[in-house]
Amino acid sequence: MGTIKAGDNSLQAFDVHRIREDFPILQREIYGRPLVYLDSAASAQKPRQVLERMQEAYETYYSNVHRGVHSLSQACTEAFESGRNAAARFINAESPDQCILTKGATEAINLVAQSYGRSFLKAGDEIIISHMEHHSNIVPWQILRDQIGIEIKVVPIDGDANFLFEEYESLFTSKTKLVAITHISNAVGTVTPIKDIIRVAHAHGAKVLVDGCQAAPHAHIDVQDLKPDFYCFSGHKVYGPSGVGILYGQADLLNSMPPYQGGGEMIDLVTFEKTTYKEIPHRFEAGTPAIVEAIGLGAAIEYIEALGKDNIAAHENGILAYATERLSRIPGLNIIGRAKEKASILSFTMEEAHAHDIGTILDRRGVAVRAGHHCAQPLMQRFDLPATARASFGIYNTREEVDALADALEKVRELFS
Ligand SMILES: *Cc1c(COP(=O)(O)O)cnc(C)c1O
Repeated sequence: MGTIKAGDNSLQAFDVHRIREDFPILQREIYGRPLVYLDSAASAQKPRQVLERMQEAYETYYSNVHRGVHSLSQACTEAFESGRNAAARFINAESPDQCILTKGATEAINLVAQSYGRSFLKAGDEIIISHMEHHSNIVPWQILRDQIGIEIKVVPIDGDANFLFEEYESLFTSKTKLVAITHISNAVGTVTPIKDIIRVAHAHGAKVLVDGCQAAPHAHIDVQDLKPDFYCFSGHKVYGPSGVGILYGQADLLNSMPPYQGGGEMIDLVTFEKTTYKEIPHRFEAGTPAIVEAIGLGAAIEYIEALGKDNIAAHENGILAYATERLSRIPGLNIIGRAKEKASILSFTMEEAHAHDIGTILDRRGVAVRAGHHCAQPLMQRFDLPATARASFGIYNTREEVDALADALEKVRELFS
């Protein structure tokens, strides 16, 4: 087992302009205007600390991991494992061994559905998800349902996109085996009462998977306090590379689950008659992993730790409050999702224009927002909408950028009215 070291939480003043200098892409112009990047909920930009760490790996010690005795392989294995250690520290895992490196949150959820779900659930068992899940936390369960005949129940939300807790509690029966719920909604920004969600599920003897994709860049995550059975997030949403993510799980549970994929690195002994598997984390890491991406993830986590999650949350909450106020003043603009607890995501529609038209016009003014269903079509159906436009805010966004967004939206109104 590796050790978990405390992060550098030095509370330096949160200087957004200094932070922006770390992100080379923010110097870009789009159609002759400064890029205003308001799409971090889809994928965050990367600071040069991450890019340099990855380049350094390729230039000075890159090699395959785990299998080599030579110097490069040892150095690369150490750097790769330090990425895992950083992830463990980031969510306060008991041990880095409980942090499986996956391709991303999507693969993490599919792993749980296929390995845990196919072995431990049976026809007639029930699982609970919510109405605001990302497709990645819906479709793997539907695949499992079609394979083994489980039933999927859905927690409703109210008109402000609040998670309805009493309705959630009323969904449990003696057949409920698993709850799979998002920590923060990517489409409307709702922060779910995840600690209570987990507590209630455990009281009913059900396991819990938390989709932490949007929480990881914004909120403190302490899995020893929350006690989920599984918790997952993606590297590319925490200012790290794409192609890498983390599945945290309880050690006994993970070690009791069969492998998800077979191949190199996950075996103990292979004969044609029988193969035995390694313990976690390697049991679930068949094949050559995303080596340099894991190294980059470590750098991204160090970057976030240096800023401090409290500082990040304070900054982003300020931007969200400012943006909510600013956009509320635009006639014909409707904010979708006004949950009591909300993270830095602002979804909206305009009476005059379709979301895709909004996105296109904003782009001509350098403002990057997402338009569409945000991989949450059931949530769109809940609000009777085909799509919304979504601005999402990260550590590098400023109030001036919110002003640019608001000005561009005024332009949309002029063009369409
Ligand atoms: C982005 C996201 C996912 C999917 O993550 P990938 O990185 O695409 O695997 C799942 N859930 C939520 C809430 C997300 O924001």
